[in-house]
Amino acid sequence: MRLLLFGAPGVGKGTQAKLLSSKFNIPHISTGDILRQAVKDETELGKKAQEIMSKGDLVPDDIMIGIIKYRFSKSDCKDGFILDGFPRTEKQAVELDKLLTEMNINDIKLINISADEEEVVKRLNNRRACKVCGHIFSLSEIDKSNNCPNCKASDSFYLRDDDKEEVIRKRLEVFRKTTEPVLNYYEKQGKVIYINGLGSVEDVNTELLKILTH
Ligand SMILES: [Zn+2]
Repeated sequence: MRLLLFGAPGVGKGTQAKLLSSKFNIPHISTGDILRQAVKDETELGKKAQEIMSKGDLVPDDIMIGIIKYRFSKSDCKDGFILDGFPRTEKQAVELDKLLTEMNINDIKLINISADEEEVVKRLNNRRACKVCGHIFSLSEIDKSNNCPNCKASDSFYLRDDDKEEVIRKRLEVFRKTTEPVLNYYEKQGKVIYINGLGSVEDVNTELLKILTH
């Protein structure tokens, strides 16, 4: 099973990726992670990427594709993978297609976990972080004592900037604008699976599995 994973901020994409990864025994490949790893390992591509990033520039597509190609060639990818964080542009989608064709892979699916904007705003706006231990809770998990369920600190909760309404709306807008062309690209090829990301983690996962295994 070879999946590309898409999801707006706040829809629980990371959680679903983990569940799918363990269910199908395929790796969850976050392009941010493999880029950092390549830099750390000082591979040839990693060194090039590091040089470009140190100047404050974005890593070019050909280097990213090279790093992805290297990751795909590892044995744990033989039965599939979940690629997360790439492609972000239509041009990257075209480049990824070239790589997949080269590797004789033609069964890719794009999972788009979507959610109603108002619901996402509400959900994130209901989150509180503990400034002592860093754990994040939803308001419903915090009882009247206002003590952190994790580290027992008292009155340690705050609303992170990332969870403030105006910031969330901005992130959602950026996400929509940047991902729309990519979605359209895969839609034309009939490769998009749409999932409603609201509802519990279990419900979303059940729905996803139903579609993926039918
Ligand atoms: Zn805490």
